[in-house]
Amino acid sequence: MEPDKTGKIFVISGPSGVGKSTIVRGAGGVVEKTGIPVCVSATTRPQGKTEVNGKDYWFITRDEFEQKIENEEFLEYAKVFDNWYGTPKKEVEDRLAKGQSVILEIDTQGGLSVKTLYPDATVVMIFILPPSNDVLQQRMSKRGRETDVDSQIAHKRLKNASNEIAMAWQHYEHMVINDVLENAINEITGIIKTETGENKE
Ligand code: 5GP
Repeated sequence: MEPDKTGKIFVISGPSGVGKSTIVRGAGGVVEKTGIPVCVSATTRPQGKTEVNGKDYWFITRDEFEQKIENEEFLEYAKVFDNWYGTPKKEVEDRLAKGQSVILEIDTQGGLSVKTLYPDATVVMIFILPPSNDVLQQRMSKRGRETDVDSQIAHKRLKNASNEIAMAWQHYEHMVINDVLENAINEITGIIKTETGENKE
């Protein structure tokens, strides 16, 4: 059983509060189940209390971010809710060169940029939907991080969610509803394993 030697980029997006990180990086989540790592992005956003530098994000200054743009270190970068986020190019390219896959947990702007950079077969676009708008609102208000940052940001995140969902229906091949966590994890794991050739009939 010779594994498929072509690496793929799995773009996973979804509105904030939908449970993306838990699905992808949490215990028993997609990374654990597939063995495919998430590429750690750089951001200018302030570090949350429970976040670890180099694991959740590389937390860098605006100047450092600009320097990286200038040095062309990003595969893509975008402004999301007044902060900048960027995907390190080298890590992604190194993995693809070795025939290994990588997961990018990025917004829809980033997803679309990545999609235009590679052949269709290389990029798999997965979007996570909330079961309903009400549930998304509840999850966002329970999340905690917004309460100690800025309620205006929380409001923006909610507004942005509907734009992202509309965009996703047009450009993402896989729409996964996060109603029951385990089901969402299994569904995404199944999509990834099918794409990497691990799920064979
Ligand atoms: P958060 O601040 O909640 O961690 O992330 C805010 C949004 O930025 C999320 O939709 C997240 O997926 C997105 N994001 C994180 N890293 C990147 C990145 O490197 N590029 C882009 N375009 N979006 C990112």
